[in-house]
Amino acid sequence: MLAQRSLINQWQQLAAKMEMISVQQAEELILSQIQDFGTEEVRYTDALGRVLAEDILADRDLPPFERPTVDGIAIRFSGYEKGLHTFKISGVQSAGEASIEVNSDHDCIEIMTGAALHNSLNCVIRYEDISIENGVATININPKKGQNIHLKGKDKKADDVLVTANQVITPAIIGIAASVGKTNLLVKKLPKIIVISTGDEMVSPDVIPSDFQLRQSNGITIKSVLQKYQIKADLLHLKDDYDLIKKELTRCLSQYDVLLMSGGVSMGKFDFLPQVCEELGVEKLFHKIKQRPGKPFWFGKNEAQKLVFAFPGNPVSVFMCLHRYFVPWLKNCLGFESNTPLNAVLDSDLNFEPPLQYFAQVKLQVNSSGQLLAKVIDTNGSGDFSHLAETNAFIELPLEKTHFAKGEVYKVWPYNL
Ligand code: AMP
Ligand code: MG
Repeated sequence: MLAQRSLINQWQQLAAKMEMISVQQAEELILSQIQDFGTEEVRYTDALGRVLAEDILADRDLPPFERPTVDGIAIRFSGYEKGLHTFKISGVQSAGEASIEVNSDHDCIEIMTGAALHNSLNCVIRYEDISIENGVATININPKKGQNIHLKGKDKKADDVLVTANQVITPAIIGIAASVGKTNLLVKKLPKIIVISTGDEMVSPDVIPSDFQLRQSNGITIKSVLQKYQIKADLLHLKDDYDLIKKELTRCLSQYDVLLMSGGVSMGKFDFLPQVCEELGVEKLFHKIKQRPGKPFWFGKNEAQKLVFAFPGNPVSVFMCLHRYFVPWLKNCLGFESNTPLNAVLDSDLNFEPPLQYFAQVKLQVNSSGQLLAKVIDTNGSGDFSHLAETNAFIELPLEKTHFAKGEVYKVWPYNL
């Protein structure tokens, strides 16, 4: 154990000497690790929130037949052109029934919205514009040829693309898939992820902590963010025990694509994660970013391309690193179509001194002229999670400046939206 400690201390000293990287460098390093996890088929009923990996085509013309848009009668317009205003009702056709043919200009049928109009008929007049007596309909308007008919193929032709690939599947998309009989959908496969929190001081939320303990929240927070992307991550909490961490990380690296960790990456005596990761062959791609919160963020990958995102333990740091770095990585891997960050207008003046780049917690609101305003909320640093529910984004303030004026526009990274 002593030998281990001294190794750890050596490593820590080395790490301390190494220069922190910028937010942009960290972003580039992470986005250089985009992976394609492949595709799989899922039932359309299970596809909500997944990313579509194929175009959805119309299986036939839409609509597939001439379709009355009102309830009423259908006539041959040639009859009206000959001066006829009364038509003998030769049948009644409801939606879902086979089309009724009419061979005489003197006849009509009663027809309901959504029924399949026979091609012998080309004008539909609604009940409000006719009167019916003794099986004869009299029209009280001057109809136009083709009126009240939604023509076959008017919306889309067979094989037209209805939904393009690479977008999140919404309720509307599921409805379209159902309409064209696409009951299995090709979607992007999701990475297998384990969320690992650490810390001897952290206890389950189900128990009452002692005066020197805290309840674990990072794991479930990360897992809940992943759920928004339909990822069902496993959860694990590890004590700050070098051997245990090594054993469990070995297992996790073989079973999962991505390890999302929190805690144990700073300079503390029991912050074992960076050293253990490197010992297990996870190459460090960076450790520490010039940012607040989230400075001690560690990121690496092993030969099998397994990625380790090891965030510092403070809940605000976790939340920021997750939304600023992990979520864009995930969206890129899944091929999200629109992945550009939002911009918002700073609502008040703010000062922040380098050398760190500041991510302030803000509440985004749209003002009456449609501008996205970012109202900065005062907080007490990365351990102060008490404002995470009342805020909904981090605003990213550039490193080059120390004074940020009301009205200036900066990137924002939304969370509770
Ligand atoms: P660490 O990065 O391990 O030094 O952790 C820093 C601080 O983050 C701890 O002292 C806790 O206050 C907090 N923390 C660490 N892990 C968790 C967790 N799982 N849930 C909530 N807070 C945590
Ligand atoms: Mg810790």
